[in-house]
Amino acid sequence: MLTMLLLGCSIVSLTVYNLSNSKEIESTWANFEEVHSEKGRAINALRSEIGYGGMIHSFKNYVLRRDLSSFESVKYRLGGAKSVIARYRSLELNEKEKQSLDDIEDNLQSYADALLVAESMNNKFAVEVDRLVKVDDTLALLGMSVLLTESETGDNFVRQGTVKKSKSQTISMLRHAMGFGGMIHNFKNAILRADINALSLAKKDLHNGLQLTEEYLTFQLTDVERSAIRNIQNVLSIYSSRIEKISTFDLRSVSPEYIDRFARVDDEPALDGLRLLDKEIVAQSERAEEKITNLLDVINKADLFILYITVLTTLIFIVWSYWLLRLQIIKPVTRLTGSMTKIARNDLDIEIYGVNKTDEIGEMARAVEVFKKNVYLLESAKKDLQSVNYNLESRVLARTRELKNSEESLRSILETAVDAIITIDNAGVIRSFNRAAENMFGYNSANITGKNVNVLMPSLIKEKHNEYISAYIEPGEAELIGVAREMEACRQSGEKFPIHVSISEVNTSDGIFFTAIIRDVSELKTYQKSLQKSKDIADEANKAKSEFVANMSHELRTPLNAILGFAQLLECDPDEPLSSSQKESVDEIRTAGKHLIGIISQILELNKIEAGKLPVLMEQVSPVLLVQESLSLIEQMCEECNIELVDNADYDGFPDLFTDKVRFKQVLINLLSNAVKYNELGGQVILSTELFDKSLRFYVADTGKGIPSCVQSQIFSPFERLGQENGDIEGTGIGLSITKKIVELLKGEIGFTSEEGKGSCFWFELPLFDSLE
Ligand code: ADP
Repeated sequence: MLTMLLLGCSIVSLTVYNLSNSKEIESTWANFEEVHSEKGRAINALRSEIGYGGMIHSFKNYVLRRDLSSFESVKYRLGGAKSVIARYRSLELNEKEKQSLDDIEDNLQSYADALLVAESMNNKFAVEVDRLVKVDDTLALLGMSVLLTESETGDNFVRQGTVKKSKSQTISMLRHAMGFGGMIHNFKNAILRADINALSLAKKDLHNGLQLTEEYLTFQLTDVERSAIRNIQNVLSIYSSRIEKISTFDLRSVSPEYIDRFARVDDEPALDGLRLLDKEIVAQSERAEEKITNLLDVINKADLFILYITVLTTLIFIVWSYWLLRLQIIKPVTRLTGSMTKIARNDLDIEIYGVNKTDEIGEMARAVEVFKKNVYLLESAKKDLQSVNYNLESRVLARTRELKNSEESLRSILETAVDAIITIDNAGVIRSFNRAAENMFGYNSANITGKNVNVLMPSLIKEKHNEYISAYIEPGEAELIGVAREMEACRQSGEKFPIHVSISEVNTSDGIFFTAIIRDVSELKTYQKSLQKSKDIADEANKAKSEFVANMSHELRTPLNAILGFAQLLECDPDEPLSSSQKESVDEIRTAGKHLIGIISQILELNKIEAGKLPVLMEQVSPVLLVQESLSLIEQMCEECNIELVDNADYDGFPDLFTDKVRFKQVLINLLSNAVKYNELGGQVILSTELFDKSLRFYVADTGKGIPSCVQSQIFSPFERLGQENGDIEGTGIGLSITKKIVELLKGEIGFTSEEGKGSCFWFELPLFDSLE
């Protein structure tokens, strides 16, 4: 960059330098051109040849003086002027210029002719000679002015008038003012022709000439130029004084020769001055040329240098650009393209080059990084999707397999099902009809499928069936669906038979279907009828039995009471006291009688329960008092048998029960008395409780012999004493069966556990009052 900057600065300074040089060259070249302009030089040369010190000057002097030197000078100058014109003609000229040159040449020819005339006129006075050799200069003067104008309107003098005149222009104008048609011409004509106007014109021209010399002095001049101008001024001053002097003369009264003698001026200093100035201008032009050459050389060198620098800069720029392009753009872009290609090939285990850069490459790299992440996400999403897809496919396959299996098994179930299975659509059209249905209704599946299901129904139901189906589709109108029903069906043979139907609804994409599972309940109905008949007979028998038991108990109790009464009379008759053996016999009678009455009472109670005649009063009951009363009733029995009564009941946690007070005590006392009765001497009876969510359980455990497991199942059967029939312990075998029935009447449960030799634990459980809704 620094190199580029330096190179840039160099080019700019060189260009500025060249520009300033160009300006200098331009101005120098303008001067040079002026001097070296062919036309300009030709006009100058023509003025020199025909003007002051030239042809007209010498011609007028020859007319006045008739001297050989003037004659020779005129001839010489005419030759010079002609050669200048010839040179002028070789330049590129327009018509006006050509015409002017023709006019000037004609004029010169006139002067040449006049010179010959003047030469032939020896011994004649100047006035006479002048009159004869008078030449009309008008066209030549006009031609001179046209030549000057045309050369000035050309490219070479475009700045004329707008810019200060140059030295050569000033000199040219000075020659014009002093020469042909100017000061010397008019001055000589004034002398020759005693023409006051010409004298005043000469005076004017002189004044112009002096002014031009003053203008020339304003240029930067060499000493030689300055002295030449001084000489010219001196000569012009002399002319001025001569004109002043001549003005005082009566020109018509004196001869031109006289005046000429008096008015003679040495023109050599002025002519030398003009020559010197010409030389000096030429020398200056040469110097300018040299300067231009030098400047052009410098410019050429500078241009060459600029060219070198430009080439070098271009080369450096190209190399730098290439380096920049390669290092900063192509290389990173190639690497990023490579990365992209790898990413596109799913090679994501790459590091993206230039992610940390802050330029456009960095932005591209970050974009590629994002692309890579997206591809990574896409790939992992693809993998996930593939695995999900794979899972799904395998699940679909498995499911299809399952479905196929299940369809097959369903079909085989359907086909092998004992029940008839029929599927109908919501128009009641049969869609499937399994083998059991074929067997049941006598139709072939292929024939019945597609027909309305009402063909399977007796005509009464048939009419209503379609209404059922359409009514079902209306919400809230389902009468058949989900409810198992019994109805009558009709076989192909026309035979009607009872069926048990359960209909379910299947809502599929193809619409609503109904599946009916139908069982032929003809046999069941027959069995039910016979069962009902048996039950009716059994109920009758039971009723008869209850009546018989009640009657029999009543019939037994009356004589038993009489027996017991007479036995008591026998014991208590003081008139006929009994012997001790009689007394023993009477005691036996009384004990057996009491036992018999007990049995009869229990049979009556059991009979009452079975007949549903046992009164039960269900109410909110606090069991604490009832339990304690029951325990105190049993206490004496415990003492007699030397049994320890342990009360572990959790009274604090006792909630109220919903039960019958009397029956509760009856149940508990029965279990407690059994626990004492079937205990060992010195054994224990333990009461405990357990509270459940909705019930309270009472445990009555003993340490007796226990119940053999082989007879445990019969324990709640009436009159089963489980081997105690012949034992010492009194009993009827009805107590537990009554207890169980009472517990069931109280909405409770009863049960027991027992281990032979270790004891038994009976329990009953009754509902809590709070559990009732
Ligand atoms: P009973 O006690 O009048 O024989 P139960 O119906 O009360 O009639 O009992 C039926 C039988 O169950 C009893 O004869 C007895 O063999 C057996 N049993 C009842 N409770 C117990 C018990 N706690 N321990 C052992 N055996 C019992």
